[in-house]
Amino acid sequence: MAAKLLEGKAIAEKLKAVVRQEVDLLRAKQNRAPKLIALQIGENASSAVYVKAQRKVAESLGIEYWLETLPDTISQAEAEQKISDFNKDHSITAIIVQLPVPKGIDAKKLANTIWPAKDAEGMHPQNLGRILLGNYKIGPCTAMAVMELLESTGEKLYGKEAVIVGHSEIVGKPLALMLLNKLATTTVCHIATGERGVLADHVKRAEILVVAVGKAGIIKGDWVKPGAVVVDVGINRVGDKIVGDVEFEAASQRASYITPVPGGVGPITTTILMRNTVELFKISF
Ligand code: NAD
Repeated sequence: MAAKLLEGKAIAEKLKAVVRQEVDLLRAKQNRAPKLIALQIGENASSAVYVKAQRKVAESLGIEYWLETLPDTISQAEAEQKISDFNKDHSITAIIVQLPVPKGIDAKKLANTIWPAKDAEGMHPQNLGRILLGNYKIGPCTAMAVMELLESTGEKLYGKEAVIVGHSEIVGKPLALMLLNKLATTTVCHIATGERGVLADHVKRAEILVVAVGKAGIIKGDWVKPGAVVVDVGINRVGDKIVGDVEFEAASQRASYITPVPGGVGPITTTILMRNTVELFKISF
């Protein structure tokens, strides 16, 4: 039986409706709106695409969005000073550093100078620590988007065999904690799992499978357990097409739900960034 498609756009629209309503209520109460500031260093084509998308979603939700562009000649210290100024500015309620940054700028160090209470991407160690403690409202956008996709299926996570392939700080690791918080039995696979030749063994027992590797078709369709929920985070350009990490056609014959690539996780992440922004606004009073 062909799997049901987990369409990110539809889920993002539902989330947006909730966030928009919340912004309206907060604005009526506080007489001001959340303000997200994006710091971009130098000009960059892919960063420009993100900025355009972020501005569009923010404005559609009633969130103020401001882009600050610094020259690519700026030093690490000067960029960090700029973040410190934003931290202290009461009119700014959330901050994001746009990637990529020019060579010579340590993006992680820069992002970590954002105060946890203004950390729109949920990547500050203090905010990541809250996920470990199971007490969080904001978090890394892609991992949060995966949780929204899983929850949209209505399938219980409690006690399920969840296998994540990929252990990055933005997806696999925080997602492992989020799934553990839901009492899924969670396994994280990574490069060493692949090198040891046991990736298929783990994937084959997954009732919940999330893949974030960045290698087209690394997960074979016939590894997917019948009835599994499959979320493919991977984005790979093959010729003139964008494909995921999972062999889509074969996997969708076995899975109960599967994300398309593109159109699965991607459309939700910007909305999560805005939801994070609103959550930070709530703690700014
Ligand atoms: P990454 O690039 O930082 O790391 C890749 C991960 O894959 C690592 O954990 C590595 O150990 C693992 N890996 C590599 N080869 C492997 C193998 N042979 N077997 C098992 N594991 C292996 O990860 P990332 O930044 O999370 O990105 C992963 C993919 O997700 C990329 O394609 C990226 O473009 C995509 N992505 C998509 C979104 C979205 O919004 N849709 C957001 C973030 C990342």
